[in-house]
Amino acid sequence: MSEPQPKPKLKKPRGVARLLDGKCIACGARCQSVCPVNCVEMTETGEPIIETAKCIGCQKCVKICPASALEMFYTAEEQQILAELAASAVPVEEEIDPEAAVLARKLAEYRGVWVFVEQTEGEPAKVSWELLGVGAVLARNLGVELCALVIGENVEHLCREAFAYGASKAYLLDAPVYYHYRTEAYVEGCCHLIAAYKPEIILMGATGMGRDLAGAIATRVGTGLTADCTGLAIDDKRNLMQTRPAFGGNIMATIMCDKFRPQMSTVRPNVMQMPERKEGAEGAIIRDPFTVPEESVLTKVIEIIRDSHSKGAVDITGAEFIISGGRGMMAPENFAMLQDLADELGGVVGASRSAVDAGWMPGDRQVGQTGKTVRPKIYIACGISGAIQHLVGMQDSDMVIAINRDSSAPIFEVATYGIVGDLFQIVPAITQRIRELKQK
Ligand SMILES: Cc1cc2nc3c(=O)[nH]c(=O)nc-3n(C[C@H](O)[C@H](O)[C@H](O)COP(=O)(O)OP(=O)(O)OC[C@H]3O[C@@H](n4cnc5c(N)ncnc54)[C@H](O)[C@@H]3O)c2cc1C
Repeated sequence: MSEPQPKPKLKKPRGVARLLDGKCIACGARCQSVCPVNCVEMTETGEPIIETAKCIGCQKCVKICPASALEMFYTAEEQQILAELAASAVPVEEEIDPEAAVLARKLAEYRGVWVFVEQTEGEPAKVSWELLGVGAVLARNLGVELCALVIGENVEHLCREAFAYGASKAYLLDAPVYYHYRTEAYVEGCCHLIAAYKPEIILMGATGMGRDLAGAIATRVGTGLTADCTGLAIDDKRNLMQTRPAFGGNIMATIMCDKFRPQMSTVRPNVMQMPERKEGAEGAIIRDPFTVPEESVLTKVIEIIRDSHSKGAVDITGAEFIISGGRGMMAPENFAMLQDLADELGGVVGASRSAVDAGWMPGDRQVGQTGKTVRPKIYIACGISGAIQHLVGMQDSDMVIAINRDSSAPIFEVATYGIVGDLFQIVPAITQRIRELKQK
């Protein structure tokens, strides 16, 4: 008796994409941008022309079309096979997209979340620890290690500090050439480590140094960089979802870098929550001997002059209480009222951009997308409407108290407590009440 033969496998036809009449909304050539084989041309009116001979039936254009204006077309023969497949239990041999397979293999070589530990003369920038906090969540979701990237001279102590804030490994470049931050040396060092250890995500502070370094690295390694992210998460395909305000802050865009590694983001100070510090936490230090010859670095740092800022200026980003005024303050002299309240609370005065643009407050007091991001214990918004560009800079405060005479002002949507009324009556009344309570 002969053995039963296995059922022959049928290849599932891939079909080709085609445009449905009158449905294209000329969205901006999304179908063209996703086509992996460049078979989509655009007409002058923004409609796609698909070169079917080149189409590989990947369906990317069909899936991305916001107007469902594209569909898959199958010949009569292909339709028959599809019908047979649907009707029978014949095993289907899915055709593997060779391009996708190569890409998946390339991406899989990169593993781990890295956080660049920014330092100046051995002093770390706080944003690095904030990034370890969000980095830990990403690493946990990906099932990979959270690593610190430490570069400088005599900076091993920063590796241990990074362990205290959640890293389990630190890549260390420690040499005299790295004492001062210089783009050339740091880019060389980082690119060497990236090539050697292949991280899938690198986070940096959106500070002067971080912005400079991240852009230079992304250009050199040929990957994407999303600046000033306000949210980071992982999707179901291990991609980093990088959310940031776009179009002048009117929308929040989530940006992905799904074809290149590492995925790089910068985040402004105070946007992410500071993780808990665990004294004595341990990790592995990977000390890499790579250095850059001093003579190849054209930039020489002669002296570091600390921000003149410190002379009488106020750093609102570190304040626990911020009383901010907007256009509703009406005049610069009225900010004295906010200063009185700030003095009673031991806080500082902030401002909306309107107040800064009007010349009522200096630029370093501006809160928001083009100002500072703050995370105080209490943020009191006085005469501020709550435009999205302002909200992105303060909405993560522990408590928001909004004072506005317009009950429909958007600031009330993020407020813990809202007071509808005239700030010129309410603010002095609060200050007065605090003084009375203090005297008791
Ligand atoms: C690219 C871009 C970046 C930007 N970046 C920033 C940024 O970083 N920070 C920022 O703040 N803005 C920024 N803006 C501007 C932003 O869009 C708003 O225009 C600005 O925040 C509005 O400031 P405001 O709330 O003080 O003024 P308004 O929107 O004019 O609001 C004034 C509020 O005061 C209230 N009011 C008036 N009188 C009283 C009173 N007596 N008592 C109580 N309430 C009163 C009014 O009801 C009103 O709600 C940016 C805009 C763009 C396009």
